[in-house]
Amino acid sequence: MSKPPLKLGIMGGTFNPIHQGHLVTAEFIRDKFKLDEVLFVPSGKPPHKGNDEIALPEHRWMMTVLATASNEYFSVSSIEIEREGNSYTRDTILQLKQIYGEKTECYFITGADAIAEISTWHKIEDLPQMTKFIAVSRPGYKLDTKKVDSRFQKCTFLVEVPALAISSTEIRKRIKKGQTIKYLLPEAVEKYIHKHSLYR
Ligand code: ATP
Ligand code: MG
Repeated sequence: MSKPPLKLGIMGGTFNPIHQGHLVTAEFIRDKFKLDEVLFVPSGKPPHKGNDEIALPEHRWMMTVLATASNEYFSVSSIEIEREGNSYTRDTILQLKQIYGEKTECYFITGADAIAEISTWHKIEDLPQMTKFIAVSRPGYKLDTKKVDSRFQKCTFLVEVPALAISSTEIRKRIKKGQTIKYLLPEAVEKYIHKHSLYR
């Protein structure tokens, strides 16, 4: 009998820095959808964001590795960091299918806020055939199903994650003000940020 296809969660993000909100979300979704693996994919040059305050890709990649190392289901990919120029979800999924096999079932995990903007993404026509989307709602953001582009409604699962009201933006602000960031992110990441004087 042939093996069932691999169920791969893909957690894209700037991870500037990675925090408990990302980790709780990824673990919760892994368990709920019985995923075989969750791959964290730190972005190279994020197309949706300005470039100020973004730590070097090497730092963001290293912090993501430190944060995920203790979970046997988590791993980190540098494909978006290694790619030249902007990274688009479509290119990332195509490349991951080359690496993991065409039959791999992809579950792209993203914030409900990002899903509501999906029509603005690059080359989206065939995305529904390539991956499922898991739109997680974060505190303070209620997703209205009607807001999801009609072409994506069939392949999108809306999931409420009992996530934490933590964002990378808030963490960066706290560092600038000299406030504590303890317990908002893994200790190893906190130490790495201090060692390299990031976000000061
Ligand atoms: P920033 O504040 O810089 O935008 P962020 O905290 O939103 O950072 P990203 O790297 O932009 O982090 O997020 C990557 C993915 O994780 C996105 O899909 C985002 O919606 C989701 N996410 C971020 N924070 C949380 C959280 N606290 N709970 C659930 N999902 C989250
Ligand atoms: Mg964000």
